[in-house]
Amino acid sequence: MHRRQFLLGLAVSGLALKVGAARAETYPFTLSDADWRGRLSSDQYAVLRQEATERPYSSPLNAIKTSGLFHCAGCDNALYSSATKFDSGTGWPSFWAPVAGAIGSRTDYLLVYPRTEVHCARCGGHLGHVFDDGPPPTGKRHCINGVALQFKPGPVT
Ligand SMILES: [Zn+2]
Repeated sequence: MHRRQFLLGLAVSGLALKVGAARAETYPFTLSDADWRGRLSSDQYAVLRQEATERPYSSPLNAIKTSGLFHCAGCDNALYSSATKFDSGTGWPSFWAPVAGAIGSRTDYLLVYPRTEVHCARCGGHLGHVFDDGPPPTGKRHCINGVALQFKPGPVT
């Protein structure tokens, strides 16, 4: 009985450590919390650093149909191309693929059921979530908070 409880305790603390390690992941671009607060607007900070979700249809980036790249509002990493943008009808800027290597992902349970969270691979800033109901060729829908992005017009391949 004692041994069983001990083993159970080990399993639980192992899980907690794993979650903690994922959160403490380091990124090439790192700032102190105070510096992030100084660099970002309060809306940007809430989304990028605290995983808040902007109101649907609130982002002017929803309407953008011109050619260009969507950069991270935190560190300027190029994340998504206009070539992969589509109108998902959800009220959030949506893409069927990221720029190669630009984002990282992990599973979150903020809404109890598991979702695939995506963040900037350079600064770790939270961007949004990925779902499996997107269009071809990937079938993925990257549902991204517009406030986490900055659009830079220009030619894309
Ligand atoms: Zn970034």
